[in-house]
Amino acid sequence: MFRMPSIRRELPVAHLLTGLVLACLLPGVLGSALFLLSEYRDERSQQNEEMLALARDIGRTVDTHLLHAQTLARSLSPVSRGTSDDTDLFSPQGARSVASVFGNPVVVYRITANGITGISSRGEQAPADPLELQAVGSVFATGKAVIGNVATDATTGERVVVAHLPIANDGKTGHVLGVSMPTAELSALLVQRHLPQGWLAALLDHRGIIAGRNRAADRYAGQPAMEKLRTAIAAQQEGELDTVTKEGVPNFTVFVRSPRTGYTAIVGIPHADVVGPLTTRLLYLAAALACLSTLGLLLARAMSRRIAGSMQALIAPATALGQGMPPAMPAVHLREAAEVGAAIERAAALLCQRDAALRAQQDELQQFKFFSEHANEMLLLLDEDGRIRYANRRASERLGYSNAELLSMTLFQIDLPTRPQQLHQVFAESRQAQMRPFERVYTCKDGSQVPVEITATVLEVKGEWLMHVAPRDIGERHQVERAVRWAAAHDGLTGLPNRARALAVLEQALDDQRAGAPGGALLFVDLDRFKPVNDQHGHEVGDRVLQAVAQRLYACVDQRALLARVGGDEFVVVMPCLGDDLEQPEAVARAILDAMALPIEAGGIEAALSASIGISRFPEQGDTANLLIHAADMAMLQVKKNGRGGFAWYAPHMDEQAQFTLGVERRLQHALDHGCLRLHYQPIVDLASGTTVGVEALVRLEDGIEPAIGPATFVPIAESCGLVLPIGSWVKREACRQQVAWQAAGLALSVSVNVSPLQFSRAGLAQRVRDLIAASGIEPRQLVIEVTETAIIKDLAEAAAILGEVKALGVRIALDDFGTGYSSLGALSVLPLDKLKIDQSFVRRIETDHASRAVIDAVIALAHSLNLELVAEGIETEAALDYLRARGCQLGQGYYFSRPLAPAALEEWWGRKAA
Ligand code: C2E
Ligand code: MG
Ligand code: MG
Repeated sequence: MFRMPSIRRELPVAHLLTGLVLACLLPGVLGSALFLLSEYRDERSQQNEEMLALARDIGRTVDTHLLHAQTLARSLSPVSRGTSDDTDLFSPQGARSVASVFGNPVVVYRITANGITGISSRGEQAPADPLELQAVGSVFATGKAVIGNVATDATTGERVVVAHLPIANDGKTGHVLGVSMPTAELSALLVQRHLPQGWLAALLDHRGIIAGRNRAADRYAGQPAMEKLRTAIAAQQEGELDTVTKEGVPNFTVFVRSPRTGYTAIVGIPHADVVGPLTTRLLYLAAALACLSTLGLLLARAMSRRIAGSMQALIAPATALGQGMPPAMPAVHLREAAEVGAAIERAAALLCQRDAALRAQQDELQQFKFFSEHANEMLLLLDEDGRIRYANRRASERLGYSNAELLSMTLFQIDLPTRPQQLHQVFAESRQAQMRPFERVYTCKDGSQVPVEITATVLEVKGEWLMHVAPRDIGERHQVERAVRWAAAHDGLTGLPNRARALAVLEQALDDQRAGAPGGALLFVDLDRFKPVNDQHGHEVGDRVLQAVAQRLYACVDQRALLARVGGDEFVVVMPCLGDDLEQPEAVARAILDAMALPIEAGGIEAALSASIGISRFPEQGDTANLLIHAADMAMLQVKKNGRGGFAWYAPHMDEQAQFTLGVERRLQHALDHGCLRLHYQPIVDLASGTTVGVEALVRLEDGIEPAIGPATFVPIAESCGLVLPIGSWVKREACRQQVAWQAAGLALSVSVNVSPLQFSRAGLAQRVRDLIAASGIEPRQLVIEVTETAIIKDLAEAAAILGEVKALGVRIALDDFGTGYSSLGALSVLPLDKLKIDQSFVRRIETDHASRAVIDAVIALAHSLNLELVAEGIETEAALDYLRARGCQLGQGYYFSRPLAPAALEEWWGRKAA
């Protein structure tokens, strides 16, 4: 999360800038102060030097002045020898002379017997001041001048300084000259220096008494200098120190004591003169600094206002940014603030984008949660230790744990056999590649188990690997799989094993037999008269009847045998491990026959059924399941042929008939596929006039295969295997085409087409005939449909309806082979017939059989009464023709007129006849 940088002390920018200004000024101040101090020190040092130099110079001047008398004194030395011409120095006159030379009163000393005596230039005996006498004595002793201390002239009362000078006489000090110099003279020397105003120049004697001063000399000459100064002078020859003048002015003073005279020259400068410039400069500096500071602070204030203003202007956009609103950027005067503003705008744009992305993510998350929660399958999220981190509602429902319970559990409490190590392995493998779904069994809270198919995906979430587990409840799938497996092996209607299961069990029994187990038997059970039940009452009822039959059969079979339904009304019983015991299969067969002998009440009807059962034995009669079933089937067919409702063991001859039928079926299929069917046409003749009125189309199989077979043989087989439908369609098309062609060629012959019972019973006959008429262009009246009694006998009402529809098209209808079936004569009246065809078996026996003639007579009468045309089939002889013609039979066909002929042959026959 974003965190504001911690600010220890929040300082306003004004303070910061003020501090900055002051910080900038401080080094300047310090530097300037140091510079000033250094300057001051330099100046002071220089001034010191100058003052010392000045003091030395003053000292030298004073020395020169004081010792100037010594030079004069030397010049007086010859005089002191006392020649006749010379005046004796030690005389008032001599002293006056000397004084005149010096311009000052002098005292001339000499050593007498009484000691040192002096005479002044005024001619007086010099007073004997002990100090002075001591100085004079020193001069006599050393021959070196001694400058005396400030003293008061006894005569004049003025303050003087006496210089005691030796006057040499023959290399010895003959006299000592005491020259009195008023201190005023010395002060005058100092005044002449014209020192700056306030400066002090002074001269001190050996004792530190003021001997001269450049100002107020009169007042202070003769007074001692301040103690501090005198101590310093006593201690060192040169020096400097702070003093206070007699006037009370603090001075900075330097002093230089002359080694020659012992007098000390002093130069003093008032403190004010020394510190003044420095103070002034410091004041200037302070003033400049104050100005600078003020200016700097004003500037800082102005700048801080500007900066703070610019910063504060960013508060509003930043606040808007924080509130997720679009920030309005105000005008700011600082580039940095403008940059921050731009950054805020960019941040706002980024936030906007992130917001949108976040919302999308949240939406996705919501969707994910929604779908997860409402998913029909369980969903779990596991970590690598197997802890359940998420479980959806379905998982709670299916496993029986609350969500809170699941979230406190691990996978291993649900998937009991799985170990942590295995889970780690799944994690590792899933990271490499998507794992294939695998099956586990989860244990619910109540201990029940759920088989699941798991699809696992691992994903990294915030640096942690999690596994998204989608365990699909495959309990139902297993049930479905069981159901599918069951359905694959069972018949849905009766619940009995189906053909595939029966074959598998039979194969297994054969395998067991081959492996040494005893052989067994197979019963093939076909219901008799079941088809009419289905046809008459519909499949619903048929199904109920079959279920009832299955139950009865099941009761007849013990557990070692397998009862299976292998076809519509066909069942088998597999009886393995019988050995030579042939009784058992027969016993089962009898039990079944007995069971079926009783009427079956089901689906609201009572059906009287029976069963035909064929039995085959293995391994003797077949070593494959199919062979055994075929054998049993053959035996069953034999039972059917023999009148149904019984059982028979398979025998090899049964196969021959079946083989023949199979061969015919194959030939018919082949003929259909390869165009080997032909139509022959047998003329139908008007018996009275002898004119040919029509032809009957009769199908031929011309496939070149021996033996040649006729329709009397192959049509029933085609009927039984269903091939009669495509064959019939072809016949109708071809016959119509031929009729139309002949009609066009001037052969105005109607064409009769035979319709098999199967064709007739198939729905939509009228529609098919309508299509045929439309497609071929035949005139409906030229088409005659021949139906047999067996076709209509099953349901007279339905037959009447179908024939009515067909007849409505304009097509004529003939009842073929009349007399052979069981149709009641009364039934004829309800059928919309046009013709009756008397079966040829009666016609052929006209001459020999009285009964046949009687039937023919009756039929002729019936036809007349019903107003039906009568066609006599099978007229082979003229006698038969005569008999029929005499009885009023209108039409006839038979070898007498012509055999059925191929179209070209018929045309030829027709041509011959016409000629
Ligand atoms: P059918 O409809 O009664 O046909 C008459 C049969 O009698 C024909 O036999 C014909 O050759 C034969 N016949 C005609 N005059 C004489 C005669 O004077 N003496 C003798 N002995 N026989 C005569 P075919 O052609 O062998 O047909 C046999 C049956 O096969 C037909 O009897 C008919 O029921 C059926 N059939 C033939 N063609 C078709 C066909 O296209 N469709 C269907 N559904 N059945 C057909
Ligand atoms: Mg016919
Ligand atoms: Mg016939």
